[in-house]
Amino acid sequence: MARDRMLEKAKGLVGPCACGRMHGLKTREIYIGRELEERLAFYAMDLAGGGRALAVFDRNTYAALGERVLSALQAGCGGADALLLQGEEIHADSRSVGNILLHVTDETRLLVAVGSGTINDSCRYVAHRLGLPYLVAGTAPSMDGYASSVSPVLVDGLKLTVEAVAPTAVLLDPGVLARAPKPMLAAGLGDMLGKHIALLDWSLAAQNIGESFCQPIASLMEEAVALCEESAGQLPKGDEGAVAALGRGLCLSGLAMQLMGNSRPASGGEHHISHFLELKQMQRGEKPTLHGDKVGVATLYMIEFYHRLYEKRRPLRPVDLSAWKTRLQEGYGPAAEGFLRLSPLERGESTPLQQQYERYLEGFDAFRERAEALYAKREEYCGLLLACQGPVEPEQLGVSKQDMKQAMLCAFLLRPRYASLRMAFYFGWLEEIVDEIFA
Ligand SMILES: [Zn+2]
Ligand SMILES: [Zn+2]
Repeated sequence: MARDRMLEKAKGLVGPCACGRMHGLKTREIYIGRELEERLAFYAMDLAGGGRALAVFDRNTYAALGERVLSALQAGCGGADALLLQGEEIHADSRSVGNILLHVTDETRLLVAVGSGTINDSCRYVAHRLGLPYLVAGTAPSMDGYASSVSPVLVDGLKLTVEAVAPTAVLLDPGVLARAPKPMLAAGLGDMLGKHIALLDWSLAAQNIGESFCQPIASLMEEAVALCEESAGQLPKGDEGAVAALGRGLCLSGLAMQLMGNSRPASGGEHHISHFLELKQMQRGEKPTLHGDKVGVATLYMIEFYHRLYEKRRPLRPVDLSAWKTRLQEGYGPAAEGFLRLSPLERGESTPLQQQYERYLEGFDAFRERAEALYAKREEYCGLLLACQGPVEPEQLGVSKQDMKQAMLCAFLLRPRYASLRMAFYFGWLEEIVDEIFA
């Protein structure tokens, strides 16, 4: 049971660490097994006492787990209410959040989200606002947000990341996960493969500007990705061991973020590209594709980016800030000014540019080795995503190659965070490298 040891390992990191931080975890358990009802009843009793639980579903997740969840809650606490969110497409937005709020009564002592992305995002936020404990019964290993403590919520067409609460426990039944539609498995795998880039970007920030880095957390994430990759070939046939490994890896990403206190261990340039593409799709009034799908395709492009970044030692080049500003205004449209304020083009890091560059050169050989090892696996990753009916090209996400190119040029502005795309911008190489990729 090497895999379950990993969850123990994550818990073992709680407390003071050699990295200088005090790591904390709100989530008490990630349960992956057949006895979902038993664990759910245990937590319901522990958290709700004699009060009632409100379980939130959509049509599909009710079909997958409705009866099991409700009978477990009835056994564990003073009664269970069910809310079935209506509609073909459920978003984490004012409507879902309002709907859940309206179904919370004076007797409600516990919220239970049954589903994956959006239902969780809505419940997590409501639980936070009302100070209620919250549990997740997951139905698909499609994204890394199960154990997250923030919620992306759509408000008047804009996606805001709002503070929320991490679940006390995440409960997954591999038998249920294995029946999730294949494209959801592909999305989960895409989100997981993205961790390679997130970890490289994090290491690069540590190398170049001395950002706080935790080796035990990074190693935990590396191990989680490796375990997912090992069994990913079995995902298309719905192998329970493979979906369990994927579910565990995705949950571990959430735990790693809780431990670190930020999203560094699980999000880098690949997530920034994904967020940019989503912004574009929403601005055009198009339906955005699954988060993990965009992360997966962006990861394939970032692997190529790292390959070129460490292909040769380039000299520092001047950066025309006003030309960049125009390009970013074009790329972000009406959202541009907000992002330019959030993460200014002028460097915010205290490490002088020349020193960053010297540190980059010092780390060159070690990073080159990692970039090349990843590049050697690019085709294999494409094959794994395709086998689960996942996308590997921008067009399969409903965007053009030109959109992807724009995303690679503009994504660094999404967060005021030091990462490879932002570094290439500072060093005057971003356009050059992106042009090479799309030549
Ligand atoms: Zn993600
Ligand atoms: Zn640490």
